[in-house]
Amino acid sequence: MITTEAAVLTAVNEPLEFTEILVDDPEPNEVRLAVSNVGLCHSDLHYMTGTVGADLPVVVGHEVAGVIESVGSAVTTLRPGDRVVGALTPSCGMCRNCQVGHSTQCQRLTRIRQRPRPAFQLPDGRVVHRLGDVGAFSRHTLMRENSLVKVADEVSLHVGCLLSCCIITGVGAVFRGAEVRPGSTVAVIGCGGVGSAIIQGARLAGASAIVAVDLDDARLAAARTYGATHVVNGAADVAAEIQNLLGDGVDYSFEAVGSARTAATALEVLRPTGTACLVGIAPDGTDLTLPAWNFFFSEKRLVGSYMGSGQAQEDIAQFARLYQQGRLLLDEMVSDVIPFRDIDKGFEAMKSGAVTRIVADLTV
Ligand SMILES: [Zn+2]
Ligand SMILES: [Zn+2]
Repeated sequence: MITTEAAVLTAVNEPLEFTEILVDDPEPNEVRLAVSNVGLCHSDLHYMTGTVGADLPVVVGHEVAGVIESVGSAVTTLRPGDRVVGALTPSCGMCRNCQVGHSTQCQRLTRIRQRPRPAFQLPDGRVVHRLGDVGAFSRHTLMRENSLVKVADEVSLHVGCLLSCCIITGVGAVFRGAEVRPGSTVAVIGCGGVGSAIIQGARLAGASAIVAVDLDDARLAAARTYGATHVVNGAADVAAEIQNLLGDGVDYSFEAVGSARTAATALEVLRPTGTACLVGIAPDGTDLTLPAWNFFFSEKRLVGSYMGSGQAQEDIAQFARLYQQGRLLLDEMVSDVIPFRDIDKGFEAMKSGAVTRIVADLTV
């Protein structure tokens, strides 16, 4: 067991508490990670503001990169000193869903997540939960061997961390969720970290038109650098604007905001037979009410994609290579790198909407 510093969420809508915690020794299939960098993600904000429920106290933070410090007795593919990024959805590799490549829907999650002792504790023995078994807003954490991907030295960890959440989520939604075809047309609603990754995925997939939709003009300008061919301010009648620009609806739309209103827009901007893919995490209790004719008369499809729809380890390794080839832009997506202690300020800046990704540096 070691002692480290973590940013603990003790109550919703309160500042994170920077405090000492105890980190357990790795189980046979786990490694202890010295966390280097963590991207600030809207999902963290959901738990911090209570729009999605979590057990408290908890350490959030999941878009993680770091260096392996020690490995459990059964770990064979990772060694101390390896530089890694998270492949966050835990999976058994054996159940029906894992076997068909859909590890985001592993049926043995509960069993996989069991540990004989808590991973994090306060010095007085109280358990500290970890969001998604990650708990990355801690200078050290424990992760399973199959929840990490080794990256080359050329991939700096302050950009590499993006691979573990917004990139796998966005690019994965394009290739595995919606299965975008070359030459097709795409609209992306919401151009933060995930939306920017979706735009890049659509470019890599060979989309002939990519329409970026956001309320923030700075984000729309950035969207063009990622591959957007057209931009529409979300305050406008988005479906009418897209019809004007392209002379038709789009083949694929992606919702990367997490609201019922933008989900309805995603369906509305489609041409008949088009596919809308919901990616953004909506607050607990969000219901969708959608005009049914879209589905029978217009044969539209509505699908969802979570964390890249499976096979994250393989995909993240490939995306890292695309980054090294200059085909996947990561450095451009990092708006700012901030010290660990400034995480709360980073989330405040994120709420303003003008940033793509803020990354915390846990080595300072
Ligand atoms: Zn995330
Ligand atoms: Zn499984």
